[in-house]
Amino acid sequence: MPRERKEIIYQGTPVSRGIASGPLHIVARGFAAPEIYTIPPSHVSREQERFLAALERTKEQLRSLRTQIEEISGEEEGRIFEAHLMVLEDRTILNRVFEAINDRHQNAEYSFYAVIQTFLEAMRRIPDPYLRERTVDIEDVCKRVLRNFSAEPEASMPDQPEHQHILVAYDLNPSDTAAMDRNHVLGFATEVGSINSHTAILARSLGIPAIVGLQNAIFNLHALTPAILDGYTGKLIINPSDETRARYAVLQKEKRRLQKALQKLRDTKTVTTDGRHITLSANIEFEQELPLVAASGAEGIGLFRTEFFLLEREECPSEDEQTELYTRLAQSVRPHPIIIRTLDAGGDKVPGEPLTEPEPNPFLGWRGIRFSLARRDLFKEQLRAILRAGAEGAVSIMFPLISGLREIREAKALLAECIEELTARGVPFNPKIDIGAMIEVPSAAIMAEQIAAEVDFLSIGTNDLIQYTLAVDRINPRVSDLYKPGHPAVVRLIKSTVAGADKAGIWTGVCGELAGDLLYLPLLVGLGIDELSVGTQQVPIVKQAVRHLSYKDCQALAHSCLRVSETREVIALCQSLAEEAYPDLLRQMQSDQ
Ligand code: PEP
Ligand code: MG
Repeated sequence: MPRERKEIIYQGTPVSRGIASGPLHIVARGFAAPEIYTIPPSHVSREQERFLAALERTKEQLRSLRTQIEEISGEEEGRIFEAHLMVLEDRTILNRVFEAINDRHQNAEYSFYAVIQTFLEAMRRIPDPYLRERTVDIEDVCKRVLRNFSAEPEASMPDQPEHQHILVAYDLNPSDTAAMDRNHVLGFATEVGSINSHTAILARSLGIPAIVGLQNAIFNLHALTPAILDGYTGKLIINPSDETRARYAVLQKEKRRLQKALQKLRDTKTVTTDGRHITLSANIEFEQELPLVAASGAEGIGLFRTEFFLLEREECPSEDEQTELYTRLAQSVRPHPIIIRTLDAGGDKVPGEPLTEPEPNPFLGWRGIRFSLARRDLFKEQLRAILRAGAEGAVSIMFPLISGLREIREAKALLAECIEELTARGVPFNPKIDIGAMIEVPSAAIMAEQIAAEVDFLSIGTNDLIQYTLAVDRINPRVSDLYKPGHPAVVRLIKSTVAGADKAGIWTGVCGELAGDLLYLPLLVGLGIDELSVGTQQVPIVKQAVRHLSYKDCQALAHSCLRVSETREVIALCQSLAEEAYPDLLRQMQSDQ
């Protein structure tokens, strides 16, 4: 059967700007789709035999595994493999694969994969949770069989091909994204996911064009099909026509031109038309982003998320290794400051074993400061490393997921212990380091005045503050419509935070994704935010926008937004001011979405 060449467009949600063009690589739930190709009719029986041989190899491996497990753990445990073996002996599956090879003349790997996918989809719809869970066994067997098509049974199928490609996956967790090989992955699209997930945030940091929420696409796509991924509008274009390719070439040129124009602002100040200076800093996750920080014109780093450095290895890096990295970062941005956030494990950033076990409700569970206060050994190593890096630059420390006073006091007590220990050791460090609390839980926003009295600054993590205020999971696309930054409750909590900080005479920043949203920028400025910390790609555009705002108008806007009671009213007020102040920038941002 000839390969389909028609241009097809899939629509998802754009989460990281940019355009990628290349062949697809597909990873269905947990495993890569094999390549599809047509076989000549004369090869049908040879292909069916290849399939039988792969099945046989798999059965042998499973039987041998069963014996090993029985010897170690007993007969009961060995039975786990019965379910796997039963899948391989299922006549329906066998017949359907034979038919697919015979009728459609598709290669054996793909025929088997397609039949299994149909079964998996049917099983996922079964209401019985026990049966639904069995999909894992089938996936496992499928992976094994696919591996066994290869001549060397033990050779594993590469998860990431060695050529440049656009990755399409059912889902990607933040660690998959962090480990992505930038030389090969030109862009990625996932079936699930959301704009505020850490996967999306990482894609932006790494500058990888990305789309999420591409529902039900995977099964219709084939490995190696040419495609264009548009991270501005969320389109994945399969088999793009010559006309489409030409249009994207022009668009890419235009985007580069705009980017260059914005870069000219690098050395200008982030100041409103009536003279209010806003500190504009960068959020980073990787040391490799340092050149981007410098090029963006950011005034330092407002959030260094340490999770990806600390959790991506088998073992947490030692105090010395951490000190070295934090020192390099501090030296690189000097004389500007860097705010290092202590480990924010949990939620969608799952630490590897043996740190924690899967949780029933991870975002409400053992996360952020809760984890650190329970694992004092790890926490104190990190605190000492940050204190030591403080000897080499303007380093501040920030605690995530603070929900009340007790946590901030406990964290400070441990910091004081670390100061004593370092003093006793006689190593250089900064005992007067600035301390910040992240405000991302409604209780902390309400108690901002008391928390502010304990620290040197507050930084609002709007990604979480919105999720916890509105009870909307930030990574669940089913409820993403309810994730409303302009909800009056969110506006009031930001106000309460700034008011608390003002009373204590300290500054307030915003380091969640909202800080880079041009629609809400006038509101944040008007509410009295002193610092905005955004991804490096966002720095120039936010700077440009602030330079078009009048602080006085923004204050009047904030005043009005605090009086209305519906989200749509807040949005309308913000839209009107943003349109008046920077229509082109706003249009550019909104046409990108
Ligand atoms: C936030 O919650 O807004 C934030 C900056 O932290 P993270 O996105 O890492 O949870
Ligand atoms: Mg957060």
